[in-house]
Amino acid sequence: MPEISESSLLIVDDDQMNRELLYRHLKNLGYDNITLADSGKRGLEIVDSQAIDLILLDMMMPVMNGLEMLDHLKSHQEWRVIPVIIISALDEKEMMLSCIQKGAEDYLIKPYDRVLLKARVRACLDKKMLHDREILHNQKLEAAYKELAIAYYELEIVKNELEALSHRDGLTGIANRRYFDTVLEREWNSAKREQKFLSLILFDVDYFKKYNDTYGHLAGDDCLCQIAIAASRVLKRPRDTLARYGGEEFAVILPDTDSIGASFCAEQIRFEIENLNIIHISSQINSYVTASLGIAAINPHVEFTTSQQLIKEADLALYQAKREGRNCVKVWSNNG
Ligand code: GH3
Ligand code: MG
Ligand code: MG
Repeated sequence: MPEISESSLLIVDDDQMNRELLYRHLKNLGYDNITLADSGKRGLEIVDSQAIDLILLDMMMPVMNGLEMLDHLKSHQEWRVIPVIIISALDEKEMMLSCIQKGAEDYLIKPYDRVLLKARVRACLDKKMLHDREILHNQKLEAAYKELAIAYYELEIVKNELEALSHRDGLTGIANRRYFDTVLEREWNSAKREQKFLSLILFDVDYFKKYNDTYGHLAGDDCLCQIAIAASRVLKRPRDTLARYGGEEFAVILPDTDSIGASFCAEQIRFEIENLNIIHISSQINSYVTASLGIAAINPHVEFTTSQQLIKEADLALYQAKREGRNCVKVWSNNG
Protein backbone atom coordinates (compact mmCIF):
# COMPACT_ATOMS: atom_id res chain seq x y z
CA MET A 1 0.00 0.00 0.00
CA PRO A 2 1.56 3.38 -1.06
CA GLU A 3 2.26 6.25 1.38
CA ILE A 4 -0.37 8.99 1.50
CA SER A 5 2.15 11.45 -0.06
CA GLU A 6 2.32 9.15 -3.10
CA SER A 7 -1.43 9.49 -3.65
CA SER A 8 -2.50 10.59 -7.09
CA LEU A 9 -4.40 13.92 -7.10
CA LEU A 10 -6.29 15.56 -9.94
CA ILE A 11 -7.08 19.29 -10.11
CA VAL A 12 -9.88 20.23 -12.52
CA ASP A 13 -10.23 23.99 -13.04
CA ASP A 14 -10.65 26.06 -16.23
CA ASP A 15 -8.75 28.99 -14.70
CA GLN A 16 -4.98 28.57 -15.10
CA MET A 17 -4.08 30.79 -12.16
CA ASN A 18 -6.39 28.89 -9.81
CA ARG A 19 -5.00 25.57 -11.04
CA GLU A 20 -1.41 26.62 -10.45
CA LEU A 21 -2.11 28.15 -7.08
CA LEU A 22 -3.81 25.00 -5.82
CA TYR A 23 -1.03 22.92 -7.40
CA ARG A 24 1.60 24.88 -5.41
CA HIS A 25 -0.34 24.59 -2.17
CA LEU A 26 -0.66 20.84 -2.55
CA LYS A 27 3.03 20.51 -3.50
CA ASN A 28 3.92 22.41 -0.33
CA LEU A 29 1.81 19.95 1.65
CA GLY A 30 4.03 17.16 0.32
CA TYR A 31 1.92 15.77 -2.54
CA ASP A 32 4.10 15.08 -5.60
CA ASN A 33 1.77 13.20 -7.87
CA ILE A 34 -0.62 15.88 -9.12
CA THR A 35 -2.26 16.03 -12.57
CA LEU A 36 -3.95 19.15 -13.97
CA ALA A 37 -7.02 19.36 -16.21
CA ASP A 38 -8.46 22.54 -17.70
CA SER A 39 -11.99 21.20 -18.28
CA GLY A 40 -14.45 18.60 -17.05
CA LYS A 41 -14.05 16.64 -20.30
CA ARG A 42 -10.25 16.54 -19.94
CA GLY A 43 -10.69 15.59 -16.27
CA LEU A 44 -12.80 12.56 -17.24
CA GLU A 45 -10.21 11.51 -19.86
CA ILE A 46 -7.52 11.54 -17.17
CA VAL A 47 -9.68 9.58 -14.72
CA ASP A 48 -10.26 7.06 -17.49
CA SER A 49 -6.55 6.63 -18.24
CA GLN A 50 -4.88 6.62 -14.80
CA ALA A 51 -5.58 5.77 -11.17
CA ILE A 52 -6.73 8.85 -9.23
CA ASP A 53 -7.15 8.95 -5.44
CA LEU A 54 -8.70 12.42 -5.05
CA ILE A 55 -10.25 15.05 -7.34
CA LEU A 56 -10.29 18.75 -6.51
CA LEU A 57 -13.02 20.10 -8.72
CA ASP A 58 -13.94 23.64 -9.68
CA MET A 59 -17.67 24.36 -9.91
CA MET A 60 -17.96 27.11 -12.52
CA MET A 61 -16.55 25.83 -15.83
CA PRO A 62 -17.77 26.25 -19.44
CA VAL A 63 -19.27 23.30 -21.42
CA MET A 64 -19.24 20.85 -18.48
CA ASN A 65 -19.50 22.41 -15.05
CA GLY A 66 -18.38 20.80 -11.78
CA LEU A 67 -21.82 19.43 -10.97
CA GLU A 68 -22.08 17.70 -14.37
CA MET A 69 -18.63 16.16 -14.01
CA LEU A 70 -19.62 15.01 -10.53
CA ASP A 71 -22.69 13.36 -12.08
CA HIS A 72 -20.49 11.47 -14.55
CA LEU A 73 -18.11 10.35 -11.84
CA LYS A 74 -20.73 9.14 -9.40
CA SER A 75 -22.70 7.21 -12.00
CA HIS A 76 -19.63 5.24 -13.05
CA GLN A 77 -19.05 1.84 -11.42
CA GLU A 78 -15.31 2.35 -10.78
CA TRP A 79 -14.99 6.12 -10.58
CA ARG A 80 -17.71 6.59 -7.98
CA VAL A 81 -15.28 5.61 -5.17
CA ILE A 82 -12.88 8.50 -5.98
CA PRO A 83 -13.49 11.23 -3.39
CA VAL A 84 -14.27 14.69 -4.81
CA ILE A 85 -13.70 18.02 -3.05
CA ILE A 86 -15.55 20.87 -4.71
CA ILE A 87 -13.64 24.14 -4.68
CA SER A 88 -15.86 26.99 -5.73
CA ALA A 89 -16.26 30.73 -5.51
CA LEU A 90 -20.01 30.13 -5.20
CA ASP A 91 -20.96 30.51 -1.60
CA GLU A 92 -24.48 29.18 -2.05
CA LYS A 93 -26.05 26.82 0.40
CA GLU A 94 -28.30 25.27 -2.29
CA MET A 95 -25.33 24.54 -4.53
CA MET A 96 -23.31 23.05 -1.65
CA LEU A 97 -26.27 20.86 -0.74
CA SER A 98 -26.68 19.51 -4.28
CA CYS A 99 -22.95 18.73 -4.46
CA ILE A 100 -23.04 16.81 -1.20
CA GLN A 101 -26.24 15.03 -2.25
CA LYS A 102 -24.60 13.98 -5.51
CA GLY A 103 -21.77 12.41 -3.54
CA ALA A 104 -19.05 15.08 -3.17
CA GLU A 105 -16.96 14.46 -0.06
CA ASP A 106 -16.49 18.11 0.80
CA TYR A 107 -16.97 21.68 -0.32
CA LEU A 108 -14.46 24.53 0.04
CA ILE A 109 -15.19 28.19 -0.73
CA LYS A 110 -12.58 30.22 -2.56
CA PRO A 111 -10.44 31.77 -1.27
CA TYR A 112 -10.04 28.66 0.83
CA ASP A 113 -8.25 28.39 4.10
CA ARG A 114 -5.02 26.41 3.66
CA VAL A 115 -5.26 24.67 7.00
CA LEU A 116 -8.79 23.53 6.11
CA LEU A 117 -7.59 22.40 2.68
CA LYS A 118 -4.81 20.35 4.27
CA ALA A 119 -7.16 18.69 6.76
CA ARG A 120 -9.83 17.89 4.17
CA VAL A 121 -7.42 16.53 1.57
CA ARG A 122 -5.84 14.36 4.24
CA ALA A 123 -9.20 13.08 5.54
CA CYS A 124 -10.35 12.20 2.01
CA LEU A 125 -7.12 10.39 1.18
CA ASP A 126 -7.20 8.48 4.48
CA LYS A 127 -10.71 7.31 3.67
CA LYS A 128 -9.75 6.35 0.11
CA MET A 129 -6.74 4.40 1.36
CA LEU A 130 -8.92 2.52 3.82
CA HIS A 131 -11.34 1.71 1.03
CA ASP A 132 -8.52 0.50 -1.28
CA ARG A 133 -7.10 -1.61 1.52
CA GLU A 134 -10.50 -3.21 2.10
CA ILE A 135 -10.88 -4.00 -1.62
CA LEU A 136 -7.40 -5.57 -1.69
CA HIS A 137 -8.13 -7.51 1.45
CA ASN A 138 -11.40 -8.82 -0.03
CA GLN A 139 -9.66 -9.81 -3.25
CA LYS A 140 -7.01 -11.72 -1.30
CA LEU A 141 -9.71 -13.35 0.80
CA GLU A 142 -11.63 -14.36 -2.30
CA ALA A 143 -8.48 -15.81 -3.89
CA ALA A 144 -7.72 -17.70 -0.68
CA TYR A 145 -11.29 -19.08 -0.60
CA LYS A 146 -10.94 -20.22 -4.21
CA GLU A 147 -7.64 -21.95 -3.47
CA LEU A 148 -9.20 -23.57 -0.43
CA ALA A 149 -12.18 -24.79 -2.46
CA ILE A 150 -9.85 -26.28 -5.10
CA ALA A 151 -7.69 -27.93 -2.43
CA TYR A 152 -10.81 -29.33 -0.76
CA TYR A 153 -12.09 -30.68 -4.09
CA GLU A 154 -8.72 -32.33 -4.85
CA LEU A 155 -8.61 -33.78 -1.35
CA GLU A 156 -12.08 -35.28 -1.89
CA ILE A 157 -10.87 -36.93 -5.11
CA VAL A 158 -7.78 -38.38 -3.39
CA LYS A 159 -9.93 -39.50 -0.45
CA ASN A 160 -12.35 -41.29 -2.80
CA GLU A 161 -9.47 -42.90 -4.69
CA LEU A 162 -7.88 -44.05 -1.44
CA GLU A 163 -11.20 -45.37 -0.20
CA ALA A 164 -11.72 -47.30 -3.46
CA LEU A 165 -8.16 -48.67 -3.18
CA SER A 166 -8.73 -49.74 0.42
CA HIS A 167 -11.61 -51.93 -0.82
CA ARG A 168 -9.47 -53.75 -3.41
CA ASP A 169 -7.37 -56.87 -3.10
CA GLY A 170 -3.79 -56.03 -4.06
CA LEU A 171 -3.20 -59.11 -6.21
CA THR A 172 -6.44 -59.64 -8.15
CA GLY A 173 -8.03 -56.17 -8.01
CA ILE A 174 -11.39 -57.59 -6.87
CA ALA A 175 -12.98 -56.73 -3.49
CA ASN A 176 -10.89 -57.65 -0.46
CA ARG A 177 -12.00 -59.42 2.71
CA ARG A 178 -12.66 -56.17 4.57
CA TYR A 179 -14.98 -54.91 1.85
CA PHE A 180 -16.62 -58.33 1.64
CA ASP A 181 -17.53 -58.05 5.35
CA THR A 182 -19.03 -54.59 4.78
CA VAL A 183 -21.06 -55.63 1.73
CA LEU A 184 -22.29 -58.85 3.39
CA GLU A 185 -23.57 -56.91 6.41
CA ARG A 186 -25.27 -54.34 4.18
CA GLU A 187 -26.89 -56.98 1.93
CA TRP A 188 -27.93 -59.07 4.92
CA ASN A 189 -29.80 -56.11 6.36
CA SER A 190 -31.46 -55.17 3.11
CA ALA A 191 -32.48 -58.81 2.43
CA LYS A 192 -34.08 -58.82 5.89
CA ARG A 193 -35.89 -55.55 5.18
CA GLU A 194 -37.02 -56.55 1.70
CA GLN A 195 -37.83 -60.13 2.81
CA LYS A 196 -35.66 -61.60 0.06
CA PHE A 197 -33.14 -64.41 -0.26
CA LEU A 198 -29.44 -63.75 0.05
CA SER A 199 -27.00 -66.31 -1.34
CA LEU A 200 -23.32 -66.80 -0.71
CA ILE A 201 -20.89 -68.89 -2.77
CA LEU A 202 -17.54 -69.79 -1.25
CA PHE A 203 -15.05 -71.43 -3.58
CA ASP A 204 -11.54 -72.76 -3.20
CA VAL A 205 -8.93 -73.79 -5.76
CA ASP A 206 -8.28 -77.53 -5.78
CA TYR A 207 -4.79 -78.78 -4.94
CA PHE A 208 -3.42 -75.29 -5.05
CA LYS A 209 -0.55 -76.06 -2.71
CA LYS A 210 0.63 -78.63 -5.23
CA TYR A 211 0.20 -76.05 -8.01
CA ASN A 212 2.53 -73.65 -6.18
CA ASP A 213 4.98 -76.45 -5.48
CA THR A 214 5.01 -77.47 -9.15
CA TYR A 215 4.98 -74.12 -10.96
CA GLY A 216 6.20 -71.66 -8.34
CA HIS A 217 4.51 -68.96 -6.30
CA LEU A 218 4.48 -66.38 -9.11
CA ALA A 219 2.65 -68.78 -11.44
CA GLY A 220 0.27 -69.40 -8.51
CA ASP A 221 -0.39 -65.66 -8.23
CA ASP A 222 -1.09 -65.44 -11.95
CA CYS A 223 -3.46 -68.38 -11.71
CA LEU A 224 -5.42 -66.63 -8.92
CA CYS A 225 -5.73 -63.50 -11.10
CA GLN A 226 -7.09 -65.53 -14.02
CA ILE A 227 -9.60 -67.23 -11.73
CA ALA A 228 -10.78 -63.82 -10.45
CA ILE A 229 -11.30 -62.62 -14.04
CA ALA A 230 -13.13 -65.83 -15.03
CA ALA A 231 -15.46 -65.64 -12.02
CA SER A 232 -16.25 -61.96 -12.52
CA ARG A 233 -17.22 -62.71 -16.14
CA VAL A 234 -20.09 -64.82 -14.82
CA LEU A 235 -21.56 -62.12 -12.56
CA LYS A 236 -23.93 -59.85 -14.43
CA ARG A 237 -25.92 -57.94 -11.79
CA PRO A 238 -24.40 -54.74 -10.41
CA ARG A 239 -25.01 -55.72 -6.78
CA ASP A 240 -23.29 -59.13 -7.13
CA THR A 241 -19.93 -58.94 -5.34
CA LEU A 242 -16.92 -61.14 -5.98
CA ALA A 243 -14.27 -60.95 -3.26
CA ARG A 244 -11.00 -62.60 -2.34
CA TYR A 245 -11.96 -64.25 0.92
CA GLY A 246 -8.40 -65.22 1.78
CA GLY A 247 -5.49 -67.13 0.19
CA GLU A 248 -6.95 -69.21 -2.66
CA GLU A 249 -10.52 -68.85 -1.43
CA PHE A 250 -13.06 -66.59 -3.08
CA ALA A 251 -16.59 -65.50 -2.13
CA VAL A 252 -19.57 -64.28 -4.13
CA ILE A 253 -22.45 -62.35 -2.54
CA LEU A 254 -25.66 -62.69 -4.55
CA PRO A 255 -28.48 -60.42 -3.32
CA ASP A 256 -32.08 -61.31 -4.15
CA THR A 257 -30.98 -64.80 -5.24
CA ASP A 258 -32.20 -68.19 -3.95
CA SER A 259 -30.26 -71.47 -3.97
CA ILE A 260 -31.40 -72.36 -7.51
CA GLY A 261 -30.10 -69.07 -8.94
CA ALA A 262 -26.90 -69.35 -6.88
CA SER A 263 -26.35 -72.95 -8.10
CA PHE A 264 -26.66 -71.74 -11.66
CA CYS A 265 -24.03 -69.02 -11.05
CA ALA A 266 -21.71 -71.39 -9.16
CA GLU A 267 -21.85 -74.01 -11.91
CA GLN A 268 -20.94 -71.33 -14.47
CA ILE A 269 -17.99 -70.22 -12.33
CA ARG A 270 -16.81 -73.80 -11.96
CA PHE A 271 -17.10 -74.28 -15.73
CA GLU A 272 -15.26 -71.00 -16.53
CA ILE A 273 -12.36 -71.91 -14.21
CA GLU A 274 -11.95 -75.39 -15.66
CA ASN A 275 -12.15 -73.91 -19.15
CA LEU A 276 -9.29 -71.55 -18.48
CA ASN A 277 -7.31 -74.72 -19.28
CA ILE A 278 -4.50 -73.86 -16.87
CA ILE A 279 -2.34 -77.01 -16.89
CA HIS A 280 -2.01 -78.62 -13.43
CA ILE A 281 -0.08 -81.90 -13.71
CA SER A 282 -0.05 -82.40 -9.95
CA SER A 283 -3.83 -82.28 -9.56
CA GLN A 284 -5.25 -85.64 -8.58
CA ILE A 285 -8.59 -85.08 -10.31
CA ASN A 286 -8.01 -83.17 -13.56
CA SER A 287 -5.30 -82.07 -16.04
CA TYR A 288 -6.32 -78.45 -15.50
CA VAL A 289 -6.83 -76.14 -12.51
CA THR A 290 -10.30 -76.61 -10.98
CA ALA A 291 -12.22 -75.28 -7.99
CA SER A 292 -14.79 -76.60 -5.52
CA LEU A 293 -17.81 -74.47 -4.61
CA GLY A 294 -20.19 -74.35 -1.65
CA ILE A 295 -23.49 -72.45 -1.55
CA ALA A 296 -25.75 -71.21 1.22
CA ALA A 297 -29.01 -69.33 0.70
CA ILE A 298 -31.00 -67.73 3.50
CA ASN A 299 -34.05 -65.49 3.75
CA PRO A 300 -33.11 -63.53 6.90
CA HIS A 301 -36.71 -62.43 7.39
CA VAL A 302 -37.86 -66.05 7.74
CA GLU A 303 -34.85 -67.60 9.50
CA PHE A 304 -33.97 -65.49 12.51
CA THR A 305 -30.21 -65.87 12.32
CA THR A 306 -27.06 -63.89 11.46
CA SER A 307 -24.87 -63.35 8.40
CA GLN A 308 -22.21 -65.49 10.12
CA GLN A 309 -24.58 -68.45 9.78
CA LEU A 310 -24.63 -67.87 6.01
CA ILE A 311 -20.81 -68.05 5.92
CA LYS A 312 -20.77 -71.12 8.11
CA GLU A 313 -23.28 -72.95 5.90
CA ALA A 314 -21.47 -72.03 2.65
CA ASP A 315 -18.22 -73.23 4.23
CA LEU A 316 -19.82 -76.55 5.20
CA ALA A 317 -21.11 -76.96 1.63
CA LEU A 318 -17.63 -76.23 0.27
CA TYR A 319 -16.17 -78.83 2.63
CA GLN A 320 -18.71 -81.30 1.29
CA ALA A 321 -17.71 -80.49 -2.31
CA LYS A 322 -14.07 -81.17 -1.41
CA ARG A 323 -15.03 -84.45 0.26
CA GLU A 324 -17.13 -85.58 -2.65
CA GLY A 325 -14.41 -85.35 -5.27
CA ARG A 326 -13.72 -81.58 -5.85
CA ASN A 327 -14.43 -79.66 -9.10
CA CYS A 328 -18.12 -79.61 -8.18
CA VAL A 329 -20.86 -77.44 -6.61
CA LYS A 330 -22.69 -78.31 -3.39
CA VAL A 331 -25.62 -76.48 -1.77
CA TRP A 332 -25.83 -76.57 2.01
CA SER A 333 -28.96 -78.25 3.34
CA ASN A 334 -30.18 -79.23 6.80
CA ASN A 335 -30.37 -82.84 5.71
CA GLY A 336 -26.58 -82.94 5.22
P1 GH3 B 1 -7.55 -78.36 -1.48
O1 GH3 B 1 -7.79 -78.99 -2.80
O2 GH3 B 1 -8.02 -79.23 -0.37
O3 GH3 B 1 -8.12 -77.00 -1.40
O4 GH3 B 1 -5.99 -78.28 -1.31
P2 GH3 B 1 -5.10 -77.01 -1.44
O5 GH3 B 1 -3.72 -77.43 -1.68
O6 GH3 B 1 -5.66 -76.08 -2.47
O7 GH3 B 1 -5.31 -76.32 -0.05
P3 GH3 B 1 -4.29 -75.90 1.05
O8 GH3 B 1 -5.10 -75.12 2.03
O9 GH3 B 1 -3.53 -77.08 1.56
O10 GH3 B 1 -3.27 -74.94 0.31
C1 GH3 B 1 -3.63 -73.67 -0.11
C2 GH3 B 1 -2.44 -73.08 -0.78
O11 GH3 B 1 -2.73 -71.79 -1.35
C3 GH3 B 1 -1.28 -72.85 0.18
C4 GH3 B 1 -0.86 -71.44 -0.03
O12 GH3 B 1 0.54 -71.29 -0.20
C5 GH3 B 1 -1.54 -71.07 -1.32
N1 GH3 B 1 -1.82 -69.63 -1.40
C6 GH3 B 1 -2.59 -68.91 -0.56
N2 GH3 B 1 -2.58 -67.60 -0.95
C7 GH3 B 1 -1.77 -67.52 -2.04
C8 GH3 B 1 -1.35 -66.45 -2.89
O13 GH3 B 1 -1.72 -65.29 -2.71
N3 GH3 B 1 -0.53 -66.75 -3.92
C9 GH3 B 1 -0.10 -68.01 -4.15
N4 GH3 B 1 0.70 -68.24 -5.18
N5 GH3 B 1 -0.47 -69.01 -3.35
C10 GH3 B 1 -1.30 -68.81 -2.33
MG1 MG C 1 -8.06 -73.26 0.97
MG1 MG D 1 -7.54 -75.22 -2.10
